[in-house]
Amino acid sequence: MDKAIFLDKDGTLIKDVPYNVDPARIKCYPDIFPALRLLQKRGYKLVVISNQSGIAKRYFTAADLEIAFSELRDQLKTEHIILDGIYYCPHSDIPAEAQCNCRKPLPGLLYKAASELHIDLKKSWMIGDILNDVAAGRAAGCQTILVDRSKRERLDDQISNPKFTPDFVLDDFLELNQLIALKNRHYEGYEIK
Ligand SMILES: [Mg+2]
Ligand SMILES: [Zn+2]
Repeated sequence: MDKAIFLDKDGTLIKDVPYNVDPARIKCYPDIFPALRLLQKRGYKLVVISNQSGIAKRYFTAADLEIAFSELRDQLKTEHIILDGIYYCPHSDIPAEAQCNCRKPLPGLLYKAASELHIDLKKSWMIGDILNDVAAGRAAGCQTILVDRSKRERLDDQISNPKFTPDFVLDDFLELNQLIALKNRHYEGYEIK
């Protein structure tokens, strides 16, 4: 069984442009590159977990989204980072419509990725910029980090609900590796993996 870093896309890996699938507007945050390179080197699978309700709303198609994903893959590949998987929820975020089990804060996509990619969820981390990412990670049994780039979630009522409480909060990816390394040494009895 492998360990993984599950990553939200918009607002975490790339600048959040709502419902964007235009490759020209996909801009990675530069601090992700050294962090992801090192995590990959340390044996973590890197898996994107993304809500894409723009498909249900017919703002774009799955094919449009695939073009955007391949741009993201290419930008990462240029930095010697290979994504092991991209999982997304294409369903609606409108509460009145039928609910799926894969839209974050629900953990469906993490379970699917874990089963297909042979990932041990307990050894894995979910990283995102909003508390719905955290909740999905917690529900799946992962450790969680809120990368609070926008600071917009700090005032959110969710933070007082234990289901949405991150294990750690960081401003960006710069200290991510150090945190995960320290935490893992703690869990694994100082055995460095
Ligand atoms: Mg996000
Ligand atoms: Zn879904």
